[in-house]
Amino acid sequence: MTDRINIIVAGPRGKMGIEALQLIKETERFELVGCIDRKNEGKLVEEVDGLPSINAPIFTDANKAFDQVNADILVELTNPEVGFEHTKKALLHGIRPVVGTSGFSSAQLEELKEISQEQKTGIVIAPNFAIGAVLMMRFSQMAAKYFDHVEIIEKHHDQKLDAPSGTAVKTAQMIQETRNKSNQGHPEEQETIPGARGAEFDGFKIHSVRLPGYIAEQEVIFGQKGQTLKLTHSSTDRRSFMSGVEFAIEQVLELDEYVYGLENLME
Ligand code: NAP
Repeated sequence: MTDRINIIVAGPRGKMGIEALQLIKETERFELVGCIDRKNEGKLVEEVDGLPSINAPIFTDANKAFDQVNADILVELTNPEVGFEHTKKALLHGIRPVVGTSGFSSAQLEELKEISQEQKTGIVIAPNFAIGAVLMMRFSQMAAKYFDHVEIIEKHHDQKLDAPSGTAVKTAQMIQETRNKSNQGHPEEQETIPGARGAEFDGFKIHSVRLPGYIAEQEVIFGQKGQTLKLTHSSTDRRSFMSGVEFAIEQVLELDEYVYGLENLME
């Protein structure tokens, strides 16, 4: 592997994509060698309004980008439908994906894992790149050992496409590993308005709030007779995700396997 890390970003005009371009521009070891966008085929990044001055070509066809550009890494930041296709194609080209895009189904995740194994090509999928959020998930998993009753409330901006968030699902899965399973709430509980009690996950609930003003926030509330415990993480700026993106790029270079969740790369 060369010293410089050649990176393609999918979704460069998006809120996360722009931050990722800035990160790459500011990181000496990183080089942006191309972007995959929905438009602007044939243009350079620096020719697109609002994007940083980087002399890298834009492609609308992922296969064309992977064929024509010498890339080590794909940073995928689009949406679940197209992001899945980009990620699959990158693996098939031996390019290691770092995926921030959320909303992949379990079947899609399984398929990516299989392709990664077949291709012996590393991949990191991170529902949340913010280190504080990763710690919140870990602490939630610890607390679930002692508290069987829990609910998750995640809050995001109203342009988010998937619900619940990838972070909430990952937190729920981590809690599931340590919690003594029980079906919470009153057994005869009834919703007078459907959905009032949130989404069901292994006997506990996940609630999704979508409002302008939020970027990403999550509260995990544990309850027991006489006490509650609340773990909260807030991302107030998308830069909160970039140290995790940088970390994942460095780590995935050493991997020839599938990793889901940044916590699996942290000591
Ligand atoms: P966003 O602002 O909507 O950006 C998505 C970008 O993808 C848009 O520029 C969109 O273009 C572009 N796009 C759509 N179809 C495309 C295609 N076929 N090829 C290439 N680009 C395409 O969303 P965001 O807030 O940046 O978030 C991006 C993803 O990251 C979401 O899945 C979000 O949930 C996730 N996310 C993850 C983390 C994490 O820590 N893991 C944190 C925040 C967000 P148009 O504008 O033309 O539609």
